[in-house]
Parts: sequence; structure tokens; C-alpha cells
Amino acid sequence: MAAFKQHLMFSCALGAGYSLALRYLGVEPTHAALAGALCGASGMLPDLDSASGRPVRELFGLTAAVVPLLLLHRLQRAGLTPEGMILTMAAVYLTIRFGAAWIFRHLTVHRGMFHSLPAAFIASEVAFLAHDRSEPGGRLVLGGGVFLGFLSHLVLDELSSVDASGLTVRLNRSAGSALKLFSRSVPATIVVWLALGALTYGVAMEQGYARSPRLPLPGLHAWHLVNRP
Ligand SMILES: [Zn+2]
Repeated sequence: MAAFKQHLMFSCALGAGYSLALRYLGVEPTHAALAGALCGASGMLPDLDSASGRPVRELFGLTAAVVPLLLLHRLQRAGLTPEGMILTMAAVYLTIRFGAAWIFRHLTVHRGMFHSLPAAFIASEVAFLAHDRSEPGGRLVLGGGVFLGFLSHLVLDELSSVDASGLTVRLNRSAGSALKLFSRSVPATIVVWLALGALTYGVAMEQGYARSPRLPLPGLHAWHLVNRP
């Protein structure tokens, strides 16, 4: 496993490049900077599943602080009073800082299902859904930053599980377990895929692909038209 610092350096370099690329593509400066910063921070996210230690506690603190900030616009649009917003943001902070931290400490194993490709999509979809902006592409850019950072962590874990000594390349015990789709734990795999399904449905709803509650997806709708009795 690559060290915490290596992960952070790699994802921050990637985040800087991502920001610059976004600027080049015409994304407004603050949005590009935020997307790059999210990419940098997300390079540490997968290690939320490691056993408790100071870096992990700080990581939970950072995540707990960032998510309410991303929710700011959504809360504003929901018509909450400033006091209601403060209370909601405090509740989200506490839920992540202590609730999610407790769940991770007790229910996840290091480099289990949280080190996987579906988990990378989950993290980016959470950012996408949290940041409720109407302008097209704005949320995609942020979700993309989180995905890129998360992915950089998985790739680095994968690379550092290969130990090249002389001509022989030997794989250590955790080799091949970072960029996975399924883990050996069936319940963990099911939970992660169900969460991904629910979030993807949420993203589809927000993007207006699923307007009818009875026939939520365009594919289903077409299927229903073809197979109408
Ligand atoms: Zn890791």
C-alpha cells in the first residue's frame, strides 16, 4: 500500500492538471479550482476504510466538513432559513464525523469493497448529487474530480502492490485487489452495488432521464411501449 503522503501528492498533482485542463476547456476559474481541490482530497478517500489512526480521523473530519459545504446550494434552493441551514449542516457534519466513522470502523476491512471501481463511482455521484447547480456540466466537473482522485488512489495502490526486484516481479498479498468490481465478501459487494444503483438512479432523476415514477428509466419506458398488452 502506498503511503498516505504519496497518495496525496499524486492526487494533488493530478488535481492541478485537471484544474488547468478545465480552465483550458473554458470552465470558470472557481469551478475549475474547486474540482481540482476535490480531486486532490479524494486521493485519500479510499483509505477511510483503514484501521483508526490520526490520518483517518483527520480524513473523516475533512470529509465531514466538505460535504455540508457542497450541500450549501442545495439547502439554499430547498428554501431553508439560515438557522435551518446551520442546523442541517451541523447534523450532516456529525453524522459523517461520528456515524459514518463508526460504521467504517466496525463494518469495513482495509482494501475491501471501498477500494473498488464501484466505490469510485459512488464517491463521485455523492459529490454530483450534493452540489446542486443548475448550470450544465458544473456538477459533472466536480463529480469527475472526485472520481479522478479516487481512481488515482486505486491505481497507486495497484502499482505499489507490484514489487519489482531485479528481473522478477512478484506480487504481494494485496495485489490485484484495488481496481476490482467485486470482493470476496458477498454482503459487502451487494451493499456497494445497491448503493451505486440507488445513487445512479438519483443522478438519472436529477438529469431528467427519469420523469415517470412508474417507469423510471427511458429503456424501461421503451420496453413497456413495445410489450404493451
Ligand atoms: Zn489504499
